[in-house]
Amino acid sequence: MFKEEANFQEGKISMHSLANLTGLEKLKETFKGEITLPEDARYEKLREAYSKKGSPALVVQPLDNNDVSAAINFAVSNSLVISARSGGHGSAGFATNDGGIVIDLSNFNKVEVIDKSNGIVRVGAGAKWGDVAKELEPYKLAISSGDTKSVGVGGLVLGGGIGWMVRKYGFTIDSLVAAEAVLADGSIIRISKEENEDLFWAIRGGGGNFCIVTNFEFIARKIDKVVFGTVQYGLEDLQSVLKGWRDYINEADENLNSTIRIMPSLFGMPAGIYILLCYAGKLNSKSKKAIEPFMKWGTVVQENVKEMNYADVLEDSMHPPAEIKITVKNFFTKELNDDLIKELSGICGKENSPVLQVRSINGENNRIAPDATAFAFRSSKFIIGAGIIAPASFTESQMEAVLQPWKSLEKFGEGIYVNFTSEKENINEIYPAATFERLKQIKRKFDPENIFNQNYNIKP
Ligand SMILES: Cc1cc2nc3c(=O)[nH]c(=O)nc-3n(C[C@H](O)[C@H](O)[C@H](O)COP(=O)(O)OP(=O)(O)OC[C@H]3O[C@@H](n4cnc5c(N)ncnc54)[C@H](O)[C@@H]3O)c2cc1C
Repeated sequence: MFKEEANFQEGKISMHSLANLTGLEKLKETFKGEITLPEDARYEKLREAYSKKGSPALVVQPLDNNDVSAAINFAVSNSLVISARSGGHGSAGFATNDGGIVIDLSNFNKVEVIDKSNGIVRVGAGAKWGDVAKELEPYKLAISSGDTKSVGVGGLVLGGGIGWMVRKYGFTIDSLVAAEAVLADGSIIRISKEENEDLFWAIRGGGGNFCIVTNFEFIARKIDKVVFGTVQYGLEDLQSVLKGWRDYINEADENLNSTIRIMPSLFGMPAGIYILLCYAGKLNSKSKKAIEPFMKWGTVVQENVKEMNYADVLEDSMHPPAEIKITVKNFFTKELNDDLIKELSGICGKENSPVLQVRSINGENNRIAPDATAFAFRSSKFIIGAGIIAPASFTESQMEAVLQPWKSLEKFGEGIYVNFTSEKENINEIYPAATFERLKQIKRKFDPENIFNQNYNIKP
């Protein structure tokens, strides 16, 4: 598959003949990491990303920045589509392709505390967030970075990053202080407020459009214990839970973070409302007081809130079975008003209801100017996401019907979070006009040929 066919061409396999690749032998001589070709045993595993099985011409696993640079130069000279892969969890499947090159960063997996007194941590793009949390645990440090262990550092950060301390510290990008990256021309650079400031702005939300980031530096936050758990209600309490939760979470102590999952009956689990909460602090009178209201919005079916280590809060991810397709959609909203709650309640508890998730993102996010980073939805207070589950065999018109309930909610939204979608989206929904214009200028400067196009693409 060549550049111009790059996005959303699933199923169109056009294998690049290895015989036509120039410079492969030379690359093998100098490359320090692994190069995997379709005939190699490792290929079967490496061709695959979380949501897509690709057929790349080769997968390379660089060991250092020079390897990444060599891989980019090789790809450019062979006109190969480039997929950068950190954790491979992106729902749109950009971390693999058909006929191109996958630059798999799994060897960039180190987590180092480089400045203990200021909590500065250097993390490889290919590390997994579960490993990052475990590595930082002995230092009583944590980075607010998502809810799942196996999600990769690179993709989550470049899109924003919503974690369990989002209300107090903002998105993961709001804890980013620097990065190391390789550009389209193969040069290796540092990115921070002081160096390549325009890129520092762009990579905080602009995805992998500009470069391949190999390492990040974050301010990690001091954390000893958290209070974490789930409070479960029946669907009959949905409206009162959503209203009570909304009113409370907008005003609550910012150490408290919460997500509501509204589950249909699935994989033998009963339908219900699962309120996940995480209080950044020990179980004491202050945290108990912050958690109390969660028990008062209806009849609690079950709760298991307890003190634990931050690293233990992160979940394992379930790999979706091949026979189902999960369509992931989302929107931001400033308010969870009664009309939205009513509409949302109307689509739950039915056969084929989506898995819905409402996350609170108020707090620090709202204190940051919309033009401070490429992620611009700074006045949003909630993000509503859906996992719409259907048999993989469904036709387009059957899918249209399954997506209909979600579509009825979209009128309440403003913008899309690039990390929570599996679909072809309107790029102008992801980036408001002024942000998009600035991103295009930066794209023209750093990647005028658009070689980094396996993403929600900003065309130069
Ligand atoms: C089970 C699950 C749970 C999730 N939970 C959360 C959550 O709690 N909070 C949240 O914010 N998000 C969450 N996400 C979404 C997640 O942030 C995105 O899917 C993210 O893209 C995954 O990062 P990755 O590195 O694993 O992905 P990849 O698939 O490797 O990459 C995703 C995109 O980024 C590009 N990219 C990746 N690494 C680099 C790099 N180093 N340089 C340049 N481009 C790169 C890829 O080319 C691709 O376009 C979740 C996703 C899943 C599947």
